Amino acid sequence: MLDNNCVFCKIIRGEIPSAKVYEDDKMLVFKDIEPKAKVHLLAVPKNHFKLLSDMDEQRAETIKYMLEKIPEIAKENGLINGYRLVINQGDDAGQTVFHLHIHILGGETLSW
Ligand code: AMP
Ligand code: ZN
Repeated sequence: MLDNNCVFCKIIRGEIPSAKVYEDDKMLVFKDIEPKAKVHLLAVPKNHFKLLSDMDEQRAETIKYMLEKIPEIAKENGLINGYRLVINQGDDAGQTVFHLHIHILGGETLSW
């Protein structure tokens, strides 16, 4: 189920362009438009949901699948020396897009 007003749903539907690096029936991975590291990718489930607190069994299956896939996607994108995954939740974390997503950051030594 996609949300008409959600920027990541628009990217999934192809209504907004994105620099895709991986896609299958469950997930899409594309480059962040405002990279916070030399390599900054966003892994997005193809089903729209906002927060980890909206998790159910099917959504959890998709997130598990994504976490299993991310190491090979990271490797294909040159992240051979490590990387960081981030899932922002809510205002204090600065979440701006309320479609759950996993940031993949690397390509350099990351500071906190
Ligand atoms: P968050 O702060 O965790 O909600 O992260 C949202 C991320 O989405 C930010 O890092 C934005 O730079 C990124 N972003 C927003 N719009 C786009 C877009 N059209 N294409 C790629 N990345 C985007
Ligand atoms: Zn969405």
